[in-house]
Amino acid sequence: MKPYAEVIGDPIAHSKSPLIHGFWLDALGIDAEYRRAHVRPEELAGYFESRRADPAWRGCNITIPHKQAALDYVEDRGGVRESIGAVNTVIRGEDGALIGTNTDAGGFYAPIAGLDLEGRHAVVIGAGGAARAILFALSRLGIGRVTIQNRNVLKAAALLSSFGIKGDAVPLGSPLPPAALLVNASALGMAGQPPLDIDLSPLPEDAVVYDAVYVPLETQLLAQARARGLDTVDGLEMLIGQAALAFELFFGAEPPRDRDDALRALLMS
Ligand code: NAP
Repeated sequence: MKPYAEVIGDPIAHSKSPLIHGFWLDALGIDAEYRRAHVRPEELAGYFESRRADPAWRGCNITIPHKQAALDYVEDRGGVRESIGAVNTVIRGEDGALIGTNTDAGGFYAPIAGLDLEGRHAVVIGAGGAARAILFALSRLGIGRVTIQNRNVLKAAALLSSFGIKGDAVPLGSPLPPAALLVNASALGMAGQPPLDIDLSPLPEDAVVYDAVYVPLETQLLAQARARGLDTVDGLEMLIGQAALAFELFFGAEPPRDRDDALRALLMS
């Protein structure tokens, strides 16, 4: 039987992962599949039990609402529960064990790997799952200080202290500090959600604005940043980055990142 990996979630129809992995499998001529599987919360235990017994299954990506619950069914060899607190990728180890990991932090980091953020100030908007992965990455980069803006300020303060990062938690709409990096990791600006209303004028000229939202791709935040001449990173870069790390784990091959332009065109069509 053909080897396969898949993405699981509830709902799952919206997931772009099959398009991304399918594109890379085709490009590399790998005879394998990447599917989507609708798995409801009450089906999660049964899902892992059946896949554990399926030799063709290489692993899965995990999306809402299973990223935390999946930790109960997999081995956490990298200490993900204590750090990011959620898994987005499960693979089968050589010994047959199901191993959970998280590629969101690496996917966030890849597009800004060239920035020197050591000792600098960053602002993160949001305190949910994406923000956790981003704060983990920022803590590893030696960030000096992080200001989190969030609707629920207490949740943001708890998140900051769980990573031992210096900084502060403030309400949405607070004036920005002169930070080197601004990241939107909230649902604001996403299609169907309220817009992100923000004044970028306090940011210095070399600041980078990064939006994790990828529907729409050109968010109001990114348009505003470009209008000010700031460098920007869009949500597809993070999405493709986290998928690339997972692809290598599933199929043992590096995806052809020189084809990113064609992949981005496919994802936007
Ligand atoms: P989540 O865990 O549900 O967190 C949602 C965040 O948005 C929380 O901070 C929440 O504030 C805030 N929020 C939601 N609705 C709001 C509203 N009406 N007004 C103000 N704040 C609101 O979601 P997530 O998984 O972190 O995802 C957050 C965003 O990141 C989404 O747009 C998602 O598409 C994007 N994302 C992108 C990637 C990528 O690869 N590019 C990966 C993961 C996520 P409270 O804490 O106050 O509730």
